[in-house]
Amino acid sequence: MNCEQARILLMGYLDGELDSEQEKELRRHLDTCPACRAEWESFKNLKEDTSNMKFKLLPEMYWDEYWEKVYNKIERGLGWIFFSIGAIILFGFGFYEMFRDFFMNPKEPLALKLGVGFLSIGLIVIFVSVLREKLMVRRVDKYRRVIR
Ligand SMILES: [Zn+2]
Repeated sequence: MNCEQARILLMGYLDGELDSEQEKELRRHLDTCPACRAEWESFKNLKEDTSNMKFKLLPEMYWDEYWEKVYNKIERGLGWIFFSIGAIILFGFGFYEMFRDFFMNPKEPLALKLGVGFLSIGLIVIFVSVLREKLMVRRVDKYRRVIR
């Protein structure tokens, strides 16, 4: 490997993009070539400096905004969970009221009641989930329109 090749590989090495073969070749060259080693040291320091600087200069505002977004996300997530639970309970209650005679009839076998019960709970959960998705998608669409 000559110096020119080594300098090109240095950048990739710095970003961790070299495969192990290239890395070995480069290291071998750096061991034998003081000029490239000096170049490598300065690259390395420069990179450390800029990443330290970025971290220090990160404005306080950015973090505030970041946490606000995280909080909003959690809040909204909780909102949707309560929405789902509420909707499932209401629909379930309505369904139970509609078929109360069936559920209360001692002549109907328990297995049939359980089957119908679980089947309807499943349907209600799926329905609420689809409803929630539709509401969410509509909100996202509205947001997209604002951006465009
Ligand atoms: Zn060299």
